[in-house]
Amino acid sequence: MFETDALDVPQRALTGDLPAESRVAGLLLEAHERYAGEQAGVVADYIPALAEADPALFGLSLTEVDGTVHRVGDSEVPFSIQSISKAFVLALVCEEIGHEEVHRIVGVNNTGLPFSSVIALELNHGSPMNPMVNAGAIATTALMPGDSAEEKWEAVREGLSRFAGRRLELDERVLASESASNHRNQGIADLLTSYGRLLGDPAEIVDVYTRQCSLLVTADDLAVMGATLADGGVNPVTGQRVVSAEVCRDTLSVLAACGMYETSGEWLFEIGLPAKSGVSGGIVAIAPGKGALGTFSPPLDAAGNSVRGQRACAFLSRALGLNLFASLPHPVKGAATRE
Ligand code: GLN
Repeated sequence: MFETDALDVPQRALTGDLPAESRVAGLLLEAHERYAGEQAGVVADYIPALAEADPALFGLSLTEVDGTVHRVGDSEVPFSIQSISKAFVLALVCEEIGHEEVHRIVGVNNTGLPFSSVIALELNHGSPMNPMVNAGAIATTALMPGDSAEEKWEAVREGLSRFAGRRLELDERVLASESASNHRNQGIADLLTSYGRLLGDPAEIVDVYTRQCSLLVTADDLAVMGATLADGGVNPVTGQRVVSAEVCRDTLSVLAACGMYETSGEWLFEIGLPAKSGVSGGIVAIAPGKGALGTFSPPLDAAGNSVRGQRACAFLSRALGLNLFASLPHPVKGAATRE
């Protein structure tokens, strides 16, 4: 485990501005037009209720840290949040137990293996590795405050609702469908228990985790939730503080390394933003200090990431200047030695 002696150094932030509002709105429209006809990808069907999603749905939303909202297409269509919930539950748990405990108990390194991998657990002596794969997410949900599963579930729902700025409802059909078919997650929770890595009753924790995945959101909600992480933990629409600025930084670093499953490296190479995707077709991509994109389109690639969502994020990251790794030479300093 990497150890640092710099935890007491105050965290400074370095961010920039988005282009003018009209330009942002125009580029969002352009992204929608460019990729609405994209036909690649397959709608997830391992949770039977998800297979019913309309593959043509496509919504894009962007919330700026000043609360300005831009939307296009099916940005108000509800869908179950699925794995994107992992990002926000991690933030709530970070707020509760802190940076070092999350690092120690759950881990922050990518597994390089699919999100539902059991082999990853066995290869790492029962370490769940990171909070964005199912093993780590189940272990993280177990760390939510509350003495009973019911209290933990309420804390999850209430916490994710504060990120969204409205009370999130459950998709009972998806919950029933996944509950009846999630033998793999139950197996993962039992395996974690056998390694002494899961607090509480494994069946109950999987139930809370399945509920958290069944909360209904829209692309608009994802943009507001992400913008809260981009805004030092304050929801830019409600003005309410949800988590601390340090927790946002920690959460975003985990998303950069692990948010897009085993293709997180490729995502970072093309898009350069912390992000999280889910099997129902959502993606949230966060530009710290600027805002966040929420996308929804059900057809997925082989790793489980929305095809149109990824394409739209790649376009918008470039066009809006969001890539965290992009820079241009300083126009004055050293100009004499440049062409
Ligand atoms: N609820 C889903 C599962 O546990 C979430 C997976 C995902 O969105 N990648 O399998």
